[in-house]
Amino acid sequence: MPDQHSYLSNKEKKNCTGCGACSFVCKHHAIDMREDIEGFFFPDINKNLCTRCGLCIKSCPIAFSQQNTKDNREFYLATTPISEYFSKSATIGVCTMLAESIINTGGVVYGAWLDETTLKCKHICISTLPDIEKIRNSKYTQSEIHQCLRDVENNLKSGKTVLFVGTPCQIAGLKSFLFHAYNNLYTIDLICHGVYSYKILQEEVKYWGKIYNGVINNFRFRSKRVYPWERGGVINFDVTNKKNKVEHIEILGSYSPTYRCYAYSGNGINYNLRLSCYHCQFRAEERYGDITVGDSWFMKKNFPEIFSGENNRNGISLLLINTSKGHDIMNMISQKLNLFKLEKSQAFVQPALLPTNRVIPVERAELYGKLLKEDYGELVNRLLGIDIRMLYKKSISHSRESKFKKLKKIVKKHVLGYDTSNKE
Ligand SMILES: Cc1cc2nc3c(=O)[nH]c(=O)nc-3n(C[C@H](O)[C@H](O)[C@H](O)COP(=O)(O)OP(=O)(O)OC[C@H]3O[C@@H](n4cnc5c(N)ncnc54)[C@H](O)[C@@H]3O)c2cc1C
Repeated sequence: MPDQHSYLSNKEKKNCTGCGACSFVCKHHAIDMREDIEGFFFPDINKNLCTRCGLCIKSCPIAFSQQNTKDNREFYLATTPISEYFSKSATIGVCTMLAESIINTGGVVYGAWLDETTLKCKHICISTLPDIEKIRNSKYTQSEIHQCLRDVENNLKSGKTVLFVGTPCQIAGLKSFLFHAYNNLYTIDLICHGVYSYKILQEEVKYWGKIYNGVINNFRFRSKRVYPWERGGVINFDVTNKKNKVEHIEILGSYSPTYRCYAYSGNGINYNLRLSCYHCQFRAEERYGDITVGDSWFMKKNFPEIFSGENNRNGISLLLINTSKGHDIMNMISQKLNLFKLEKSQAFVQPALLPTNRVIPVERAELYGKLLKEDYGELVNRLLGIDIRMLYKKSISHSRESKFKKLKKIVKKHVLGYDTSNKE
Protein backbone atom coordinates (compact mmCIF):
# COMPACT_ATOMS: atom_id res chain seq x y z
CA MET A 1 0.00 0.00 0.00
CA PRO A 2 1.54 3.29 -1.04
CA ASP A 3 0.30 5.21 1.99
CA GLN A 4 2.58 3.10 4.21
CA HIS A 5 5.47 4.92 2.56
CA SER A 6 4.26 8.27 3.75
CA TYR A 7 5.66 10.03 6.81
CA LEU A 8 2.04 10.91 7.63
CA SER A 9 1.32 7.22 8.21
CA ASN A 10 4.53 5.97 9.78
CA LYS A 11 6.37 9.08 11.11
CA GLU A 12 9.60 7.84 9.53
CA LYS A 13 11.64 10.90 8.67
CA LYS A 14 13.27 9.20 5.71
CA ASN A 15 9.82 9.27 4.09
CA CYS A 16 9.39 13.05 4.05
CA THR A 17 11.16 15.62 1.87
CA GLY A 18 9.42 18.56 3.58
CA CYS A 19 7.70 19.75 0.38
CA GLY A 20 4.55 20.74 2.25
CA ALA A 21 2.09 19.40 -0.35
CA CYS A 22 0.11 17.55 2.36
CA SER A 23 -0.16 20.65 4.52
CA PHE A 24 -1.33 23.04 1.82
CA VAL A 25 -3.72 20.59 0.18
CA CYS A 26 -5.62 20.12 3.45
CA LYS A 27 -8.90 22.02 3.29
CA HIS A 28 -9.32 21.85 7.07
CA HIS A 29 -5.96 23.47 7.84
CA ALA A 30 -5.21 20.44 9.99
CA ILE A 31 -1.52 20.15 9.02
CA ASP A 32 1.21 22.62 9.93
CA MET A 33 4.77 22.43 8.67
CA ARG A 34 7.04 22.48 11.74
CA GLU A 35 10.80 22.66 12.02
CA ASP A 36 12.52 19.81 13.86
CA ILE A 37 15.57 20.18 16.09
CA GLU A 38 17.93 19.77 13.10
CA GLY A 39 16.23 22.61 11.19
CA PHE A 40 14.23 20.53 8.67
CA PHE A 41 10.48 20.93 8.13
CA PHE A 42 7.98 18.09 8.69
CA PRO A 43 4.15 18.03 8.70
CA ASP A 44 2.38 17.97 12.04
CA ILE A 45 -1.29 16.85 12.09
CA ASN A 46 -3.76 18.46 14.46
CA LYS A 47 -6.02 15.48 15.23
CA ASN A 48 -8.85 17.77 16.35
CA LEU A 49 -9.11 19.32 12.90
CA CYS A 50 -8.36 16.19 10.83
CA THR A 51 -11.37 14.50 9.18
CA ARG A 52 -9.28 11.52 7.95
CA CYS A 53 -10.24 12.27 4.33
CA GLY A 54 -6.83 10.96 3.16
CA LEU A 55 -6.17 13.82 0.74
CA CYS A 56 -2.86 14.57 2.47
CA ILE A 57 -1.53 11.08 1.81
CA LYS A 58 -2.74 11.19 -1.81
CA SER A 59 -0.73 14.41 -2.25
CA CYS A 60 2.49 12.94 -0.82
CA PRO A 61 5.04 12.58 -3.64
CA ILE A 62 6.77 9.76 -1.78
CA ALA A 63 3.57 7.72 -1.58
CA PHE A 64 2.17 8.64 -5.02
CA SER A 65 4.84 10.10 -7.27
CA GLN A 66 3.93 11.77 -10.57
CA GLN A 67 6.73 11.56 -13.12
CA ASN A 68 6.71 13.17 -16.52
CA THR A 69 5.36 11.36 -19.48
CA LYS A 70 8.56 10.98 -21.47
CA ASP A 71 8.32 12.14 -25.03
CA ASN A 72 11.14 12.71 -27.42
CA ARG A 73 13.89 12.92 -24.78
CA GLU A 74 17.25 14.43 -25.71
CA PHE A 75 20.49 14.76 -23.76
CA TYR A 76 23.22 17.36 -24.16
CA LEU A 77 26.43 18.78 -22.86
CA ALA A 78 26.21 22.57 -23.10
CA THR A 79 28.58 25.51 -22.89
CA THR A 80 28.04 29.20 -23.50
CA PRO A 81 30.39 31.89 -24.79
CA ILE A 82 28.41 34.61 -22.97
CA SER A 83 30.23 35.62 -19.78
CA GLU A 84 27.24 37.45 -18.33
CA TYR A 85 25.63 34.00 -17.90
CA PHE A 86 28.47 31.68 -16.93
CA SER A 87 30.40 34.07 -14.68
CA LYS A 88 27.91 34.45 -11.82
CA SER A 89 25.96 31.22 -12.18
CA ALA A 90 26.68 27.84 -10.63
CA THR A 91 27.37 26.08 -13.92
CA ILE A 92 26.77 28.08 -17.13
CA GLY A 93 23.53 29.83 -16.21
CA VAL A 94 20.93 27.77 -18.08
CA CYS A 95 18.49 28.40 -15.20
CA THR A 96 19.23 32.12 -15.43
CA MET A 97 18.74 32.16 -19.23
CA LEU A 98 15.38 30.39 -18.90
CA ALA A 99 14.27 32.69 -16.06
CA GLU A 100 15.11 35.67 -18.28
CA SER A 101 13.12 34.25 -21.23
CA ILE A 102 10.04 33.48 -19.14
CA ILE A 103 10.06 36.94 -17.52
CA ASN A 104 10.51 38.58 -20.94
CA THR A 105 7.31 36.88 -22.08
CA GLY A 106 5.37 38.20 -19.06
CA GLY A 107 5.71 35.09 -16.88
CA VAL A 108 6.94 34.57 -13.33
CA VAL A 109 9.75 32.42 -11.94
CA TYR A 110 10.08 30.58 -8.61
CA GLY A 111 13.57 29.89 -7.33
CA ALA A 112 15.66 29.60 -4.17
CA TRP A 113 16.66 32.79 -2.33
CA LEU A 114 19.07 32.89 0.62
CA ASP A 115 18.13 35.31 3.39
CA GLU A 116 21.55 36.69 4.31
CA THR A 117 20.44 37.66 7.82
CA THR A 118 19.01 34.34 8.99
CA LEU A 119 20.91 32.19 6.45
CA LYS A 120 17.63 30.38 5.76
CA CYS A 121 16.78 29.58 2.17
CA LYS A 122 13.28 29.73 0.71
CA HIS A 123 11.61 29.80 -2.69
CA ILE A 124 10.38 33.19 -3.85
CA CYS A 125 8.45 34.40 -6.88
CA ILE A 126 10.19 36.90 -9.16
CA SER A 127 8.82 38.80 -12.14
CA THR A 128 11.56 41.30 -13.04
CA LEU A 129 14.97 40.77 -14.67
CA PRO A 130 17.05 42.39 -11.88
CA ASP A 131 15.46 40.01 -9.35
CA ILE A 132 17.00 37.00 -11.12
CA GLU A 133 20.19 37.81 -9.18
CA LYS A 134 18.32 36.88 -5.98
CA ILE A 135 17.79 33.28 -7.05
CA ARG A 136 20.97 32.75 -9.05
CA ASN A 137 23.77 30.35 -7.95
CA SER A 138 23.32 27.05 -6.09
CA LYS A 139 22.60 27.08 -2.39
CA TYR A 140 23.12 23.60 -1.07
CA THR A 141 21.08 24.17 2.07
CA GLN A 142 17.44 23.08 1.76
CA SER A 143 15.13 25.73 0.36
CA GLU A 144 11.63 25.86 1.87
CA ILE A 145 8.96 25.69 -0.81
CA HIS A 146 5.82 25.12 1.20
CA GLN A 147 4.94 28.80 1.64
CA CYS A 148 4.80 29.37 -2.12
CA LEU A 149 2.75 26.34 -3.26
CA ARG A 150 -0.60 28.12 -3.04
CA ASP A 151 0.87 31.16 -4.81
CA VAL A 152 2.10 28.99 -7.72
CA GLU A 153 -1.39 27.51 -8.04
CA ASN A 154 -3.02 30.97 -8.05
CA ASN A 155 -0.65 32.22 -10.73
CA LEU A 156 -1.30 29.13 -12.87
CA LYS A 157 -5.06 29.45 -12.48
CA SER A 158 -4.88 33.12 -13.50
CA GLY A 159 -3.22 32.01 -16.75
CA LYS A 160 0.31 33.28 -15.99
CA THR A 161 3.25 31.37 -17.40
CA VAL A 162 5.19 29.92 -14.47
CA LEU A 163 8.74 28.55 -14.41
CA PHE A 164 9.60 26.62 -11.21
CA VAL A 165 13.23 25.67 -10.55
CA GLY A 166 14.03 23.23 -7.76
CA THR A 167 15.41 19.91 -6.67
CA PRO A 168 13.66 16.81 -8.09
CA CYS A 169 11.75 16.22 -4.83
CA GLN A 170 10.52 19.82 -4.89
CA ILE A 171 9.23 19.49 -8.45
CA ALA A 172 7.59 16.19 -7.49
CA GLY A 173 6.05 17.85 -4.41
CA LEU A 174 4.75 20.78 -6.43
CA LYS A 175 3.16 18.48 -9.01
CA SER A 176 1.59 16.32 -6.30
CA PHE A 177 0.15 19.41 -4.66
CA LEU A 178 -1.29 20.71 -7.94
CA PHE A 179 -2.81 17.31 -8.72
CA HIS A 180 -3.38 18.03 -12.39
CA ALA A 181 -1.09 19.18 -15.20
CA TYR A 182 -1.07 22.84 -16.25
CA ASN A 183 -0.01 23.77 -19.79
CA ASN A 184 1.39 27.08 -18.49
CA LEU A 185 3.72 25.40 -15.93
CA TYR A 186 7.35 24.76 -16.89
CA THR A 187 9.69 23.00 -14.48
CA ILE A 188 13.44 22.55 -14.17
CA ASP A 189 14.71 19.89 -11.80
CA LEU A 190 18.34 20.17 -10.76
CA ILE A 191 20.61 17.18 -10.57
CA CYS A 192 20.86 16.85 -6.80
CA HIS A 193 22.79 14.65 -4.39
CA GLY A 194 21.10 16.06 -1.29
CA VAL A 195 20.52 19.09 0.92
CA TYR A 196 21.63 20.07 4.43
CA SER A 197 19.98 22.19 7.10
CA TYR A 198 20.29 25.97 7.41
CA LYS A 199 21.61 25.34 10.93
CA ILE A 200 24.73 23.82 9.36
CA LEU A 201 25.09 26.90 7.16
CA GLN A 202 24.81 29.21 10.17
CA GLU A 203 27.68 27.32 11.83
CA GLU A 204 29.75 27.41 8.63
CA VAL A 205 29.42 31.19 8.40
CA LYS A 206 30.32 31.58 12.11
CA TYR A 207 33.37 29.35 11.53
CA TRP A 208 34.78 31.63 8.80
CA GLY A 209 33.83 34.74 10.79
CA LYS A 210 36.06 33.47 13.61
CA ILE A 211 38.94 32.54 11.29
CA TYR A 212 38.90 35.93 9.54
CA ASN A 213 37.94 37.80 12.70
CA GLY A 214 35.20 39.81 11.03
CA VAL A 215 31.62 39.98 9.83
CA ILE A 216 30.73 37.78 6.83
CA ASN A 217 28.46 39.06 4.07
CA ASN A 218 27.43 37.85 0.60
CA PHE A 219 28.09 34.19 1.37
CA ARG A 220 27.94 32.13 -1.86
CA PHE A 221 28.56 28.46 -2.72
CA ARG A 222 29.99 28.56 -6.23
CA SER A 223 32.34 31.01 -7.96
CA LYS A 224 34.72 31.22 -10.91
CA ARG A 225 36.52 34.40 -9.86
CA VAL A 226 39.66 32.61 -8.67
CA TYR A 227 39.22 28.89 -9.36
CA PRO A 228 37.86 27.39 -12.59
CA TRP A 229 34.44 25.68 -12.74
CA GLU A 230 36.09 22.25 -12.88
CA ARG A 231 37.23 22.68 -9.24
CA GLY A 232 33.56 22.43 -8.14
CA GLY A 233 32.30 24.00 -4.91
CA VAL A 234 33.97 27.25 -3.87
CA ILE A 235 32.61 29.10 -0.87
CA ASN A 236 33.16 32.82 -1.16
CA PHE A 237 32.20 35.82 0.89
CA ASP A 238 33.09 39.37 1.87
CA VAL A 239 34.57 39.84 5.31
CA THR A 240 34.49 43.22 7.09
CA ASN A 241 37.19 43.54 9.75
CA LYS A 242 37.23 45.72 12.88
CA LYS A 243 38.67 48.65 10.90
CA ASN A 244 35.72 48.39 8.48
CA LYS A 245 37.97 47.12 5.70
CA VAL A 246 36.21 44.69 3.33
CA GLU A 247 38.11 41.76 1.80
CA HIS A 248 36.69 39.21 -0.67
CA ILE A 249 37.63 35.60 0.11
CA GLU A 250 37.37 32.49 -2.09
CA ILE A 251 37.91 29.03 -0.58
CA LEU A 252 37.87 25.63 -2.27
CA GLY A 253 35.12 23.31 -1.02
CA SER A 254 37.55 20.81 0.46
CA TYR A 255 38.63 23.41 3.10
CA SER A 256 35.05 24.07 4.24
CA PRO A 257 33.79 21.87 7.12
CA THR A 258 30.33 21.79 5.53
CA TYR A 259 31.50 20.86 2.04
CA ARG A 260 33.84 18.23 3.56
CA CYS A 261 30.76 16.57 5.04
CA TYR A 262 28.72 17.19 1.89
CA ALA A 263 30.73 16.42 -1.20
CA TYR A 264 34.43 16.39 -0.44
CA SER A 265 34.76 13.72 2.25
CA GLY A 266 36.97 11.69 -0.08
CA ASN A 267 34.97 8.53 0.57
CA GLY A 268 31.78 9.51 -1.27
CA ILE A 269 29.81 9.63 1.99
CA ASN A 270 27.63 12.64 2.77
CA TYR A 271 27.41 13.29 6.52
CA ASN A 272 24.97 16.17 6.77
CA LEU A 273 21.98 15.45 4.51
CA ARG A 274 18.28 15.53 5.22
CA LEU A 275 17.34 11.94 6.10
CA SER A 276 15.09 11.52 3.02
CA CYS A 277 18.07 12.34 0.76
CA TYR A 278 19.79 9.05 1.70
CA HIS A 279 16.80 7.16 0.29
CA CYS A 280 15.91 9.61 -2.47
CA GLN A 281 13.53 8.06 -4.99
CA PHE A 282 13.65 11.18 -7.14
CA ARG A 283 17.25 10.75 -8.30
CA ALA A 284 16.38 8.47 -11.16
CA GLU A 285 16.33 8.27 -14.96
CA GLU A 286 12.65 9.17 -15.00
CA ARG A 287 12.65 12.86 -14.17
CA TYR A 288 10.09 15.26 -12.73
CA GLY A 289 11.10 18.45 -14.55
CA ASP A 290 10.56 19.35 -18.20
CA ILE A 291 14.31 19.93 -18.23
CA THR A 292 16.97 18.59 -15.89
CA VAL A 293 20.02 20.81 -15.37
CA GLY A 294 23.26 19.97 -13.62
CA ASP A 295 27.03 19.92 -13.77
CA SER A 296 28.66 17.43 -16.10
CA TRP A 297 30.75 15.77 -13.37
CA PHE A 298 32.26 12.32 -14.10
CA MET A 299 32.11 12.85 -17.89
CA LYS A 300 35.53 14.34 -18.57
CA LYS A 301 37.33 11.20 -19.65
CA ASN A 302 34.70 10.37 -22.29
CA PHE A 303 34.80 13.82 -23.94
CA PRO A 304 38.38 15.16 -23.71
CA GLU A 305 37.78 17.54 -26.62
CA ILE A 306 34.92 19.29 -24.78
CA PHE A 307 36.51 19.21 -21.32
CA SER A 308 39.42 21.48 -22.14
CA GLY A 309 40.59 25.09 -22.03
CA GLU A 310 37.92 27.75 -21.61
CA ASN A 311 35.16 25.18 -21.10
CA ASN A 312 36.86 23.81 -17.98
CA ARG A 313 37.15 27.35 -16.66
CA ASN A 314 33.68 28.64 -17.56
CA GLY A 315 31.56 25.54 -17.09
CA ILE A 316 29.92 22.63 -18.88
CA SER A 317 26.28 21.83 -18.17
CA LEU A 318 24.52 18.52 -18.48
CA LEU A 319 21.00 19.03 -19.86
CA LEU A 320 18.26 16.43 -20.09
CA ILE A 321 15.30 17.57 -22.16
CA ASN A 322 12.53 15.37 -20.83
CA THR A 323 9.29 16.59 -22.43
CA SER A 324 7.97 18.50 -25.41
CA LYS A 325 7.48 21.48 -23.09
CA GLY A 326 11.15 21.13 -22.25
CA HIS A 327 11.98 21.35 -25.96
CA ASP A 328 9.78 24.46 -26.27
CA ILE A 329 11.62 26.38 -23.57
CA MET A 330 15.01 25.11 -24.71
CA ASN A 331 14.27 26.65 -28.12
CA MET A 332 13.99 30.02 -26.36
CA ILE A 333 17.65 29.88 -25.27
CA SER A 334 19.37 27.53 -27.73
CA GLN A 335 21.06 30.39 -29.63
CA LYS A 336 22.96 31.24 -26.43
CA LEU A 337 24.39 27.73 -26.14
CA ASN A 338 26.86 25.38 -27.82
CA LEU A 339 25.15 21.99 -27.65
CA PHE A 340 26.77 18.54 -27.94
CA LYS A 341 24.23 15.75 -28.30
CA LEU A 342 24.66 12.65 -26.12
CA GLU A 343 23.32 9.13 -26.08
CA LYS A 344 21.26 8.32 -22.99
CA SER A 345 23.95 5.96 -21.68
CA GLN A 346 26.54 8.76 -21.99
CA ALA A 347 24.37 11.17 -19.99
CA PHE A 348 23.50 9.03 -16.99
CA VAL A 349 26.90 8.51 -15.40
CA GLN A 350 27.09 10.60 -12.26
CA PRO A 351 25.86 9.05 -8.96
CA ALA A 352 23.46 11.96 -8.32
CA LEU A 353 21.45 10.82 -11.35
CA LEU A 354 21.29 7.19 -10.38
CA PRO A 355 18.97 5.63 -7.81
CA THR A 356 20.73 4.45 -4.69
CA ASN A 357 19.83 3.50 -1.19
CA ARG A 358 22.68 5.08 0.70
CA VAL A 359 23.56 4.09 4.23
CA ILE A 360 23.04 6.86 6.78
CA PRO A 361 26.49 7.25 8.33
CA VAL A 362 26.60 6.96 12.14
CA GLU A 363 28.50 10.27 12.29
CA ARG A 364 25.41 12.14 11.00
CA ALA A 365 23.52 11.80 14.30
CA GLU A 366 26.51 13.13 16.23
CA LEU A 367 27.03 15.99 13.78
CA TYR A 368 23.48 17.27 14.22
CA GLY A 369 23.28 16.26 17.90
CA LYS A 370 26.37 18.25 18.89
CA LEU A 371 25.95 21.09 16.38
CA LEU A 372 25.34 23.92 18.80
CA LYS A 373 27.12 22.29 21.74
CA GLU A 374 30.63 21.96 20.32
CA ASP A 375 32.89 24.19 18.21
CA TYR A 376 31.78 23.38 14.63
CA GLY A 377 35.28 23.08 13.15
CA GLU A 378 36.47 20.78 15.95
CA LEU A 379 33.32 18.68 15.72
CA VAL A 380 33.81 18.05 11.98
CA ASN A 381 37.55 17.42 12.47
CA ARG A 382 36.83 14.86 15.17
CA LEU A 383 34.13 13.08 13.15
CA LEU A 384 36.19 12.91 9.96
CA GLY A 385 39.57 12.41 11.64
CA ILE A 386 41.26 15.36 9.89
CA ASP A 387 42.35 18.91 10.69
CA ILE A 388 40.61 21.03 8.05
CA ARG A 389 41.81 24.35 9.48
CA MET A 390 45.43 23.20 9.36
CA LEU A 391 44.96 21.98 5.76
CA TYR A 392 43.52 25.40 4.85
CA LYS A 393 46.43 27.25 6.53
CA LYS A 394 48.91 25.07 4.62
CA SER A 395 47.11 25.71 1.33
CA ILE A 396 47.26 29.47 1.90
CA SER A 397 50.95 29.49 2.79
CA HIS A 398 51.65 27.21 -0.19
CA SER A 399 49.85 29.58 -2.58
CA ARG A 400 51.64 32.61 -1.01
CA GLU A 401 54.98 30.81 -1.47
CA SER A 402 54.30 30.02 -5.13
CA LYS A 403 53.12 33.60 -5.77
CA PHE A 404 56.36 34.85 -4.11
CA LYS A 405 58.48 32.48 -6.24
CA LYS A 406 56.76 33.71 -9.42
CA LEU A 407 57.33 37.33 -8.39
CA LYS A 408 61.02 36.61 -7.64
CA LYS A 409 61.45 35.13 -11.13
CA ILE A 410 59.81 38.16 -12.77
CA VAL A 411 62.04 40.57 -10.82
CA LYS A 412 65.19 38.59 -11.71
CA LYS A 413 64.24 38.38 -15.38
CA HIS A 414 62.83 41.83 -16.04
CA VAL A 415 64.49 44.04 -13.41
CA LEU A 416 67.88 42.39 -12.84
CA GLY A 417 68.08 41.10 -16.41
CA TYR A 418 68.81 37.37 -16.07
CA ASP A 419 66.67 34.35 -16.92
CA THR A 420 66.17 31.70 -14.20
CA SER A 421 63.78 29.47 -16.10
CA ASN A 422 66.30 26.69 -16.78
CA LYS A 423 67.78 26.71 -13.28
CA GLU A 424 64.76 25.90 -11.06
C1 LIG B 1 21.04 21.08 -3.38
C2 LIG B 1 21.68 20.96 -4.72
C3 LIG B 1 22.50 19.85 -4.99
C4 LIG B 1 23.08 19.71 -6.25
N1 LIG B 1 23.86 18.61 -6.50
C5 LIG B 1 24.35 18.43 -7.74
C6 LIG B 1 25.10 17.27 -8.06
O1 LIG B 1 25.36 16.40 -7.23
N2 LIG B 1 25.54 17.11 -9.36
C7 LIG B 1 25.28 18.04 -10.32
O2 LIG B 1 25.66 17.82 -11.47
N3 LIG B 1 24.59 19.15 -10.04
C8 LIG B 1 24.13 19.37 -8.78
N4 LIG B 1 23.40 20.50 -8.50
C9 LIG B 1 23.08 21.44 -9.62
C10 LIG B 1 24.14 22.50 -9.87
O3 LIG B 1 24.72 22.94 -8.66
C11 LIG B 1 23.50 23.73 -10.55
O4 LIG B 1 22.45 24.19 -9.73
C12 LIG B 1 22.88 23.46 -11.88
O5 LIG B 1 23.86 22.98 -12.75
C13 LIG B 1 22.25 24.74 -12.47
O6 LIG B 1 23.24 25.62 -12.79
P1 LIG B 1 22.95 26.98 -13.57
O7 LIG B 1 24.25 27.64 -13.83
O8 LIG B 1 22.03 26.73 -14.70
O9 LIG B 1 22.12 27.77 -12.44
P2 LIG B 1 22.04 29.33 -12.01
O10 LIG B 1 21.80 30.16 -13.22
O11 LIG B 1 23.18 29.63 -11.15
O12 LIG B 1 20.72 29.27 -11.15
C14 LIG B 1 20.62 28.42 -10.04
C15 LIG B 1 19.21 27.89 -9.95
O13 LIG B 1 19.15 26.89 -8.95
C16 LIG B 1 18.09 27.14 -8.05
N5 LIG B 1 18.53 26.76 -6.71
C17 LIG B 1 19.63 27.22 -6.06
N6 LIG B 1 19.73 26.67 -4.86
C18 LIG B 1 18.67 25.85 -4.70
C19 LIG B 1 18.21 25.03 -3.63
N7 LIG B 1 18.85 24.93 -2.47
N8 LIG B 1 17.09 24.32 -3.81
C20 LIG B 1 16.39 24.41 -4.98
N9 LIG B 1 16.77 25.19 -6.02
C21 LIG B 1 17.90 25.89 -5.88
C22 LIG B 1 17.85 28.64 -8.13
O14 LIG B 1 16.49 28.92 -7.89
C23 LIG B 1 18.25 29.00 -9.56
O15 LIG B 1 17.14 28.98 -10.41
C24 LIG B 1 22.85 20.69 -7.24
C25 LIG B 1 22.07 21.82 -6.95
C26 LIG B 1 21.48 21.95 -5.71
C27 LIG B 1 20.64 23.17 -5.41
